Amino acid sequence: MLAMEARRMGYRIHTYSPEHNSPTGQIADFEYAAPYNDAAAVRSFAKGVDALTFEFENVPSLVAETAEAEGVPVRPSGSILHAAQNRQREKSMLTRAGLPVTPFRAITDIKQLAEAVHEIGFPAILKTAAFGYDGKGQTRIERDTGLESAWNSLGRQPCVLEAFVNFERELSMVAARGQDGAFATYPLVENRHVNHILDVTIAPADVEPSVAQEAERLACKLCEFLDLTGVLCIEYFLVSEPGMGGNSHDPELQSTGRLLINEIAPRPHNSGHWTIEGAVTSQFEQQLRTVSGLAPGSTEQLRPAVMLNLLGDLWQSGEPNWPALLAFSNLKLHLYGKHEPRPGRKMGHLTVTAGTTAEALEMGLQARTALQRG
Ligand code: AMP
Repeated sequence: MLAMEARRMGYRIHTYSPEHNSPTGQIADFEYAAPYNDAAAVRSFAKGVDALTFEFENVPSLVAETAEAEGVPVRPSGSILHAAQNRQREKSMLTRAGLPVTPFRAITDIKQLAEAVHEIGFPAILKTAAFGYDGKGQTRIERDTGLESAWNSLGRQPCVLEAFVNFERELSMVAARGQDGAFATYPLVENRHVNHILDVTIAPADVEPSVAQEAERLACKLCEFLDLTGVLCIEYFLVSEPGMGGNSHDPELQSTGRLLINEIAPRPHNSGHWTIEGAVTSQFEQQLRTVSGLAPGSTEQLRPAVMLNLLGDLWQSGEPNWPALLAFSNLKLHLYGKHEPRPGRKMGHLTVTAGTTAEALEMGLQARTALQRG
């Protein structure tokens, strides 16, 4: 989606990933297919570009370091990438920045886990520190007897233990910051998950103005703290009352505000895809503008919008019913060009814009149901 915006604006695109014929490779001018740890290939790639950015944060930070050593601007910087790809580092960074995070403890062995769970309280969620997304690498712990199996099930690796948050809703905000510090945010949105995977985004979220203002204030604080150039998304838990952050017995672990940060992503985010049709500047154009040293564009929302993900599960009984979907005239279909529709894999999404978010949601859900065969 970044490459498509870039093409529209006359840029040329080089892409690097371990795969041939990747979604970006299908429309890029040059596709480099090599392992991320192939320093010579990364150097040769870096020599051909004016600026480098990434589409997910699990690109090894060696890539950013190698490109930075070649004098290529990496935006957001390699140090931000490094912090965001590990939950321990990310949460410690957020705490240092003075931002409210889900109560957590860093865990490196089972003894620490046993101690931490008594501070955090039950239920708690154990998450691997590295390479976690969409609920992968996490497990819920209900009682003492579950510690050993939880620790083993995640492969006995560095983890974070989090308090289980009884949130009222999940929200997120995409922000952009230019090289000169110009800052812009999109409206706060509501995210609904199924099986820990984002299912639907509703833009804007129906929340009190004070919640949206607080989300924006926290996003600005984080972008300033990181000295970010680029686009960043913050995922929040909205808790119903101050101090409802979790079931912790430790008052220090309780937050005083109504928003807790679950995680951040220093890149465009699935919950910002609605901006392609729903805002003056899409989050992808925004990434392109900021990483190229240009000013952020207007983040004004044009119409209420809803985004619905299309997962690989929809292909279970063969090709989904595209004609039935496209009989709904007021929606936009996006398919990413991924080859294998595995269950749980994000293959594309729909965006519906309408007079209200309720109307858009109703139509989007009907349209997505029409895709199912049999
Ligand atoms: P994550 O990969 O950490 O974003 O987690 C995926 C989803 O799991 C979140 O969007 C929440 O729906 C749920 N989740 C994660 N952490 C917690 C928590 N500490 N308390 C309650 N639900 C959580």
